[in-house]
Amino acid sequence: MTHIITSLCVRDRGCIDVCPVECMIPGQPLNEWPWIYIDPDTCIDCGACVPECPFAAIFPEDEVPSAYTAKGGEYISNVGLTGHFEGTNHHGGPIVLDTARQLEAGEVIDLTPDIQPNYEFFKSGPGYSAKDIDDGK
Ligand code: SF4
Ligand code: SF4
Repeated sequence: MTHIITSLCVRDRGCIDVCPVECMIPGQPLNEWPWIYIDPDTCIDCGACVPECPFAAIFPEDEVPSAYTAKGGEYISNVGLTGHFEGTNHHGGPIVLDTARQLEAGEVIDLTPDIQPNYEFFKSGPGYSAKDIDDGK
C-alpha cells in the first residue's frame, strides 16, 4: 500500500521533510501537477507525514474518502480549476495557486479520483526529475 496526497493539498510543504524515504515530490509545472506527490513504490506507509499536514490532505490509500464533507473555507486544488489561493508555506515562502476552489460548508466531494495522479506523476509525469526545477513554491 501507499499513502496518497489528495486535492486538499495546497503545497504547504510541511510533510516533505519528515518522510524517511524522501518520496514526496513537489509537482511541476503547477498547472499540470499542482500537489506534492507520493511515490507509491517507495512509500513505506509509516504515516509520519499525516499529522504534519495542516490541511489534512494525506490519507492511507484505502482510507481516501469517497464522500468528504467540507468544513467550509478549505480549498481544493486541481488541474482545470481556475480559482486563486495565496498563503505562506511551512518554510515561510509564498504559496500561489491558480488551480484552486474554496469549498462551502457541507459540500460533499469524492477524493478517490485523486489516488491515480500519485501513480501517474511517477509513471508518465515528471516524477523525481521535478526536484531539479523545484523553486520552493
Ligand atoms: S503538508 Fe499537506 S498541504 Fe502541505 S504539501 Fe504536504 S500534503 Fe500538501
Ligand atoms: S507514509 Fe511515510 S513513507 Fe509514505 S509518504 Fe508519508 S512519510 Fe513518506
